[in-house]
Amino acid sequence: MNFLFTMPERRVLFGRGVFSRLKEEIERLGCSFPLAVTTPSKRSKEKIESVLAPLSYALFDGARMHVPEESVEEALAFAEGRPFDCLVAVGGGSPIGLAKALALRTGLPIIAVPTTYAGSEMTPIWGRTEGGVKTTGRDDKALPKVVLYDAELYASLPASIAGVSAMNALAHCVEALYAENANPVSDLFAEEGIRLITGNLTASLDGPNREEATEGVLRGAWMGGMVLAMTTMGLHHKLCHTLGGSFGLPHAETHAIVLPHVLAFNGEYAGTAMRKIARGFGTSSPKDAAGRAYDMLSGIGAKNALKDLGMRIEDLEKTADLATRNKYSNPRPFTAADLAPLLENAFWGRRPE
Ligand code: NAD
Repeated sequence: MNFLFTMPERRVLFGRGVFSRLKEEIERLGCSFPLAVTTPSKRSKEKIESVLAPLSYALFDGARMHVPEESVEEALAFAEGRPFDCLVAVGGGSPIGLAKALALRTGLPIIAVPTTYAGSEMTPIWGRTEGGVKTTGRDDKALPKVVLYDAELYASLPASIAGVSAMNALAHCVEALYAENANPVSDLFAEEGIRLITGNLTASLDGPNREEATEGVLRGAWMGGMVLAMTTMGLHHKLCHTLGGSFGLPHAETHAIVLPHVLAFNGEYAGTAMRKIARGFGTSSPKDAAGRAYDMLSGIGAKNALKDLGMRIEDLEKTADLATRNKYSNPRPFTAADLAPLLENAFWGRRPE
């Protein structure tokens, strides 16, 4: 096995209540005037205000999905003329994505406080959307310096968002295991991430062990973010990127629906990785993993068909075409025509064989 392993410096604090250490972490970076960014939710604004009150700070709550260029310009105009020395992102992939775009423009360090399982906080991957086209890239300036994982912040996350967001994290672990640039550390994290997410997800959404199970899913999502940063994703992410970027489908829901179908598609071509994926899903049979991923959708009350997210059947061919325009690594080689049955199954919500 040949591999390249790098581990950029960053600080991760995990635990119930660590959000209250935000001010201390800002000061530890030598900063004193944060620009906080979040989505327009009253609850997250109140939380940020309660923790940052002792500092001079300002709060921009205009983060939106897929980082539209206008939201970056609005945030920069908001920041104009004020001596901010760091960025604090509180929320899901949307505010963290906005903070990354701002870090690229200003060079300021980011402290990320995730409240979904999307994993962006652990990666140097940035994205932005201009004129309806989403572009992504990697830049170390976009990698948060400090991440605070506080399971208490997940108590308000509705099950309808939490379930699919966790499946988004699961997809990071799955694709990392068969990535061409996987390494022994990413393999360990990815398999453990699958085990933690599949083993805790249902209990994290409801029931007496919700708090403990949420911490389990969050540890798995952290591992998902780590391996997303270390490896290059394959077919699943390309398809979801196309479905979100070109047809406006919602990020986490789309990842959740497409995952079982890509697992079935790649299954026989992913040998050892597939055995690890199956083990993470709690089965010794690699053939069962796709079915288990599909059954998770009903288990968490999520939609299982792209048609129910607003996809049009006439756009499936274009999706296959767009998703095969650029070359990327995937265990099973394919052409646009090979993707037709996969996309149709995901469109109608059929259980993969
Ligand atoms: P999101 O940040 O838009 O959050 C989804 C919804 O959940 C929002 O309405 C938000 O207000 C709400 N929410 C978040 N936390 C909450 C909480 N604790 N309680 C109540 N409501 C809460 O969506 P997301 O799925 O987290 O992120 C998707 C975005 O992140 C996409 O743009 C995607 O491309 C990007 N992303 C980037 C990377 C990367 O490495 N760059 C990785 C994953 C996702």
